[in-house]
This record gives sequence, C-alpha cells and structure tokens, in this order.
Amino acid sequence: MTATSAVEEPFLSLYDSFVKADSLAVLNAQITACRLCPRLVRHREEVGQIKRRAYREETYWSKPVSGFGDAAARLLIIGLAPGAHGANRTGRVFTGDSSGDYLYRALFETGFASQATSTSAGDGLILTDAYIACPVRCVPPDNKPLPEEVGTCRPYLVRELALLKRVEVVVARGGIALNAYLALLQDAGVIGSKAAFLFGHGRMFETHAGGPRVVCSYHPSQQNTSTKRLTAEMLREIFARVRQMFAKTERPFGGL
Ligand code: SF4
Repeated sequence: MTATSAVEEPFLSLYDSFVKADSLAVLNAQITACRLCPRLVRHREEVGQIKRRAYREETYWSKPVSGFGDAAARLLIIGLAPGAHGANRTGRVFTGDSSGDYLYRALFETGFASQATSTSAGDGLILTDAYIACPVRCVPPDNKPLPEEVGTCRPYLVRELALLKRVEVVVARGGIALNAYLALLQDAGVIGSKAAFLFGHGRMFETHAGGPRVVCSYHPSQQNTSTKRLTAEMLREIFARVRQMFAKTERPFGGL
C-alpha cells in the first residue's frame, strides 16, 4: 500500500518540517544522531561511562535506540525507552536485559521472532511481521522521561507510523506507551480525547475507523515480572491473541 491515508496525512503535515525521512533506514540514522534532549544525552553517555560491573569490559552504545524489526510488519509493539544496561548498552531495543528475555521469548513462541533470545545487535535475530519502537529513544534517569522529552521525541514515532504502512495491531506496553500512541492520534485530529481508552493488561480498543487495533500489555519490566504482575504466559497470550486477530482479519493491509 503506497497511498497516503486519511490519518497519515495530518501526521506528515504536523512533523514534516522536523523529520523528513522517506525510509526506515534514513529515519533510523536520524534517530541515532539525535541530541535534542540535553538531560537524556547526558544521562545515556554517563551510563555508558560508569557501566554495570558485569559489562565493564564492553563499550556501551550510549546513543538513541531506533526501532527494530520487519518494515512490512502488521504488528507494531510500542515500549517505553531503552534500558540503561540493555538497549543503551547493546544498541538494539529490548536487547541484553531481562525485559528483552521476556519479550522475545513470547515473540518467538508466537512466530514473530526467529529466536527466543536477544543478546546483542549482531546475534542474528530476525523479526517477521513485527516491529518494535519506543516513544523515547534515549534512556531516561529512573526510567522516567519528562513530558517535554516524550514530546520532543514524538516526531520519530510519528514518522515510523507513517513508514510502517501495513500496521494492523499496535501492542502498547504500559500506560506511557499507550498514552504516547494516543497523543499522536490526538495531535493528528483522529481522536478527540484520550479519556475513552484506559490502560489495562489485555484491554483492546478500536481507536478510529480503519486504524490499527490497540492491545494493552503490562511492560515486561523487572518490577512487573519479579512480582508476577506480568508472567511469561500472560505475555505469550497477548501475542497469541494478535496471531488470532491476523488470522481473522479480512483486511490484507490495515496501515495508517
Ligand atoms: Fe533525540 Fe528522542 Fe533522544 Fe530526545 S529522547 S535526544 S528527541 S532521540
């Protein structure tokens, strides 16, 4: 599908002056070079200097982390931000920490990933029909980006959505991810308010006619997984449900 859709159009006009990438490769290069948030630039580089003891021999990525996956994906997974010693170390989203262990195992078990582990950017992992992105591309202190930082980073996600033309389902991993996605729709005038779409693990929404369906999932943070708020089985069920949705859909393409 190459035509510009009714939703894509306002996205593009909102942000074209900032992000002009016409391919994911160009966009990812722009993201990787970004230094727009001074607090986050400082933090991501400090983390890479101080390091965790277990990784002290490694050179941290310490740059923004772009999206990863299949450019023809029907499933878009939106996370929060890079992990300090995971993606900020390895350079690939959800890679090298326990959050990634949960996520990629679930994706492997449901046929979206070629392997169950994601340890480094060069480990050979391939995603099929799935793409992963974060609304904030630099690791924030205490995993808490400031609202203005989320806003500054938003154009990259907007452009990603415009370039991922086959997306039919968005899995929002946590309330911040859901809020970031809804903010895009609200900015574009596609929804009037975010209030109707409350986060809850397993909840599903149709935000607007013809748009991707949204499925909510707890984030596989260490806090959520160690307390069993989110188990491996719960996460696998989320992606198994997406599989079923794809099997039932009559739309061959449901992009933005
Ligand atoms: Fe740039 Fe986003 Fe990182 Fe801010 S969070 S410096 S906008 S990539």
